[in-house]
Amino acid sequence: MAYGFHDCAPRLQIADGGDYGIPYRALLAKGFDNLLVTDMMITTDWEAHMSTRNTVSCMGQGQGAGTAAALCARQGIATRQLNTGQLQAQLRWDGVYLAN
Ligand SMILES: Cc1cc2nc3c(=O)[nH]c(=O)nc-3n(C[C@H](O)[C@H](O)[C@H](O)COP(=O)(O)OP(=O)(O)OC[C@H]3O[C@@H](n4cnc5c(N)ncnc54)[C@H](O)[C@@H]3O)c2cc1C
Repeated sequence: MAYGFHDCAPRLQIADGGDYGIPYRALLAKGFDNLLVTDMMITTDWEAHMSTRNTVSCMGQGQGAGTAAALCARQGIATRQLNTGQLQAQLRWDGVYLAN
């Protein structure tokens, strides 16, 4: 998903008024299999956290994690085995705008 709001705007802003995406690998909990972590619980530095922690970003992460879990369950695979291109394709099919 694409997101761009920052708590500290206008002092801190996404460059050129653009947006950014949160990679699937950010949701994979280090040291655990089949555990997806989202929202306030993903690891970022402070500047990034003040954007990613906001509600609409959390909603997007939740949709991404839920879709990933459904794809894994359907295919009988672990979360680290999921093809991210397939996840992106499903999210686009569901009407999600993904950052480039
Ligand atoms: C005062 C305040 C104002 C804010 N204002 C804004 C704003 O204007 N705009 C904006 O975009 N963001 C705002 N935010 C930030 C945003 O609301 C949060 O960062 C966001 O909701 C975090 O989502 P989350 O899913 O990580 O956590 P949460 O929204 O806290 O969800 C976690 C959920 O897990 C549940 N839970 C906890 N432990 C357990 C358990 N053991 N078993 C089952 N369930 C459990 C909790 O009850 C809760 O429902 C604000 C935050 C605060 C605190």
